[in-house]
This record gives sequence, structure tokens and C-alpha cells, in this order.
Amino acid sequence: MWVRRVICALALGHAVALASFVSTAAADTTHVVAAGEMLGSIAARYGVRVSEIQAWNNLTDDRIRIGQRLTIRDGNSDDSAESEGETIHTVAPGDTTLGICERYHVTLSQLQSWNRNLDPDRIRIGQRITIRQGGSSGSSSSSSSGSGTVYEVAPGDTLLGIAARHGVTLNQLQSWNRNLDPDRIRIGQRITIRSGASASSGSEEPVNYTTYTVVSGDTLSGIAARQGVTMQELQEWNPRLDPDRIRLGQRIRIRSLRPTRTIRYEVQPGDFLGRIASRHNVTVSEILSWNPGVDPDRIRIGHQLNIQQSGPEVPSESIGAAYGGRLVNGEQLPEHPGYRVRRSRRAWGTNETITNLMAGYSYVKRRFPDAPEIAVHDLSFENGGPMSPHRSHQSGRDADIGYYHSMCTETECEYRAINGDQINTELQWALFDYWIRNDLIEYIFVDYRIQEQMVEDLIESGVSAERLGRIFQFPSGNRIARGVIRHEPGHRTHFHVRFSCYDGDERCRE
Ligand SMILES: [Zn+2]
Repeated sequence: MWVRRVICALALGHAVALASFVSTAAADTTHVVAAGEMLGSIAARYGVRVSEIQAWNNLTDDRIRIGQRLTIRDGNSDDSAESEGETIHTVAPGDTTLGICERYHVTLSQLQSWNRNLDPDRIRIGQRITIRQGGSSGSSSSSSSGSGTVYEVAPGDTLLGIAARHGVTLNQLQSWNRNLDPDRIRIGQRITIRSGASASSGSEEPVNYTTYTVVSGDTLSGIAARQGVTMQELQEWNPRLDPDRIRLGQRIRIRSLRPTRTIRYEVQPGDFLGRIASRHNVTVSEILSWNPGVDPDRIRIGHQLNIQQSGPEVPSESIGAAYGGRLVNGEQLPEHPGYRVRRSRRAWGTNETITNLMAGYSYVKRRFPDAPEIAVHDLSFENGGPMSPHRSHQSGRDADIGYYHSMCTETECEYRAINGDQINTELQWALFDYWIRNDLIEYIFVDYRIQEQMVEDLIESGVSAERLGRIFQFPSGNRIARGVIRHEPGHRTHFHVRFSCYDGDERCRE
């Protein structure tokens, strides 16, 4: 019970933070149903629930037809303080009381005061829950405290992808950019993205979840540490999680940077929901929430289910080797609070490279909110191929990035040659460690003298020599092929990271 109240309180705090920069305009959007669309995919697109679309349009089931016009409200209720009256939330499969609290930014006791007889442990699908508005947060106003960034649309961008990258919703983008047509954005168009004053609003924060499955010997604090998140965050993302009682095989949600897409899965002979769920790394209740009206005990062969998967709308492919390959459907590295991009024309990578590079800097910024901005130099060209003066950087998996060092100012790090003793090991290691622990990289090239200093600092700070021995080439000598962190000439101004081939890229060569 104690944990529950804390989470509801946290959610309220979050709402207050958001209220300071969310626009007050809450215009409805009209969506015209296109061929092949289902309620689930439309809901995913606007970041709302199927049950909400049904309620806003008086739909009694999940049938829609091509050309039908659907009203989509700004359903994330971030600006609920602005409207009056009350909202009725109809409980959907997978809903929890805490999830509802979190969603509407209210506390459990408020929910109970508005709904007599509400048993927080026993809500049922279809149950109607009243949410009063304007009662919760006192602060409703003023965008003056919020700062904004301007994002320039790059080739291949979709609005949904941009929203996902910045941890905001499509509705928010539309409220910050009048006249923005989600189906028609053009290269070079400037899009305003509001962010709060600090990391609390986290414009770099991801918007969807990956699942971690508990293995033997895990503790929640250990999982949090390895994933680079806090215990509080884990509890926020997993309202039913009891920190003292996790069990083998339990699935824990972790917010991820990757955008989601909805796929259609055709039920095969012998399928049952549990098997389909585990094959797609989702839960049965998630499948039910994406497919309202499906009876879990009676799914029939040939039936199409909506399933959300993380990953981009257009998968990229790294083809061949870093020294002679190419890149298909790459993505351009977007802005991020942790770095600045020097030449965006030379900053393309695979979806995974972009995601993992950003995730690393998000991790550093979460742990060290004051970490200065780093200069990111070359990745690859849009289609890969030779990029002078590099030999590699051809297949969308390489990046040259400046070091954290002792001459950085409070806000940024100059791209310059450094000596070993000028490396900021604490910040640099946080980044490397994140990529290495999560098994995301093939190599990092670091000047041998800088390696030496890092190893010395890390041993002093208690990192095991045995682990360092597996990671660093130092002290074996700078010509010995060993360790994931290795010497290559020319790496005093920057390190070079080569991300691993992604499982799905069958033509990628390491
Ligand atoms: Zn390089």
C-alpha cells in the first residue's frame, strides 16, 4: 500500500512538471480511416487507447470502415487541468488502478473520493471510473518556464519517429506547432519541441517499453543498475511490482528509446495467446488491450491480431563490412541534450546505431545531469560507402565522438587532442560501460595512453581488475589484438565506436 501511494504521488509531481510547458490548446484531430487500418493501429499512432477512440466516437465495437472520420481528443490528458467537468474512463483489458492514476495524473485517494465503492485491487473491464478535472494540480499555466528546441526534418523522418525520439506524443507536437500536418512534413521543415527546465521532463526520455525477464540471482536494484535506471523509475513503469518479491521469469518493463510499430499477426494452427505473446516478447494482457473484443479462449486460425513491436517503421540494413559496405534506409542522428552533431550530412547510421548511441548519452545524462555536451563527428553517409578521410564508416555502424576531458566547460567539451591524464574517466566510463554491459558494440578505439589512465582510475574506484582485463587492451601493449577497447592511431581527439551487427541484418559482416 505504501508503494502505491508513493507512485501516485510521483505521478502527480510529474503532472505538475508537465503542466508548465504543455500548450493549453486541446484541439480535436479528425482521423480519416485508410485501407488496412484498425482501431489498434490508429490508437497507437495517436498515443491513445482503443477504448477512448470508441468512447469519443460512440463506437460499440472495433469495426471501422475506410473513409470513416474519427475524432481523436488530446487523450493523454496532460492539459486536463484546463478543461472543466469530468472524464469517464472505461476500464480496458490490462488497465490497473495505478496505471489510471498515472495516466490522469491524480492520486489514488482522489480516485477513491470520486468513485465510491472503488476497490483499487479489483477493477473490472468495462467498469466506468470518474476522473474530476481541475481538482488535482494547482499549477495550470504559463509556458514561460519551458524552453524549446527546434528540430529540422531530415530525409526519412516521420512525425511519429520524431515524437518517439524526443519522448513526446504526436498530440504534443501538434499542439506546439500549429498547422502541422502529420501526413505532410517536408525535409528542412522546422518543428518546435518544448522541454521543461530540467531533466525532470526528460525530452531525451524514451516513450515505449522493452521487457526484461528476471533470471536467477537477480535483484531489483541490480537490474536497475545494469539498465541504467533508478528503482523509482522501475516502480513507475511497473505499477504492480513489489520490490521485495521478484520471481524468476517475471517480466519487467523498461522504457526504451525505440519507437513502436503495430504489426498484424495471423493466428496459425496450434497457436494460443500465451505462445503468441511469448514469441513477440509481450504479455497476453497487452495483446488483449491491443485487440479489444478478442476472446482469449477462442482465437481462431487466420484471425489477424494487432501486436506492437519496438523498432522503426522502416528497418534499416547494414550491408557488408565497415571497410567496404553500405547502408540502406539509414537514419540521421537527431539532436540530443548529451551531444551536438557537427555535420548532419555525415551523421547517418542504422536504426540500432542511432538508438544505441542516443541511449548511451541518455544514460550518462540521467546519471550525471550536468555532463557537458560532446561533439559528434562522422558516422556514415546516408547510403554508406566510402567517406574520406576514413577507411571504415561505410556501413552505418561507426561513429567518431569527442572525449569527456578536463578542459570541458560546464556546458560543452571542445573537440581537441588530449593527453591521458586529461580524460574524465568517470563520465567516459559511464558511457562505455553502458554500451559494453548491454552488449551493443564490437570495438571502441581509444588511444593507448588514454586507456592506461582510465584503467588506473577505474582500479582505484573499485572496478575489478579481472573485468577491466577483459575490456581494455591495456596493459597488453598497443599492438596486441585483445579487448573491446583498443588502440588505433589517431584517437587522441576522439574515440571511435563500432556498434555490433544487429541480429536481423543478415548481410552485415563484423
Ligand atoms: Zn572513426
